[in-house]
Amino acid sequence: MYLVKSPLLLKWFYPSLTWNKSRSEKIVYLTFDDGPIPNVTDFVLNTLKSFDVKATFFCIGDNISKHPMVFERVKNEGHAIGNHTFNHLKGWKTDDETYIQNILKCQQLTQTNLFRPPYGRIKKSQIKSLKSKVKSLKSYRDSELRTNDSGLEIIMWDVLSGDFDLNLSPEKCYQNVIKNTQNGSIVVFHDSLKAFDRLHYTLPKVLKYLSEKGYQFGTL
Ligand SMILES: [Zn+2]
Repeated sequence: MYLVKSPLLLKWFYPSLTWNKSRSEKIVYLTFDDGPIPNVTDFVLNTLKSFDVKATFFCIGDNISKHPMVFERVKNEGHAIGNHTFNHLKGWKTDDETYIQNILKCQQLTQTNLFRPPYGRIKKSQIKSLKSKVKSLKSYRDSELRTNDSGLEIIMWDVLSGDFDLNLSPEKCYQNVIKNTQNGSIVVFHDSLKAFDRLHYTLPKVLKYLSEKGYQFGTL
């Protein structure tokens, strides 16, 4: 069970998280979670390049370790990188210390100020601890970690493509995105094997549609 469009109540309950960007500018932020994965991530990079679009990739540390060349390609092509934990942990089911350590392990590879919790599941205590932990880490590892004063920015989304849903038709996945995207939307896709059938169909069409509607594409 998931919602394509993030409800206002959730945004109200977690105000310190980023759910969308400015609604007054015609810019959309495409994000890709769970990579890097050979072929799948390469397809995303090729497609983005053909539209001259930059995006943000929330990478799993374990996948970066396994596929360093694909990760290098993401960085070299000018996309933004986000931390998505080392082992794709579910915050609600993980104790805070284990969760934070797993993020820090990923952080050694991603060196970013962006974090997205897997499944969008994170406890308030983890949010708090994450911000302060990274902040204290900053004091002695400033040169290695590109964090700002408030620690990591936690990036959620306002549009979920549903590309991970094996029961969703590719066309419905495409409709999910174009019907819900507006100025400042943060849209979630997955560069994973599971999502590939829907992603392969949807991504080029979304880029074409939104470009024709006059949207620009930004990185977080
Ligand atoms: Zn994920």
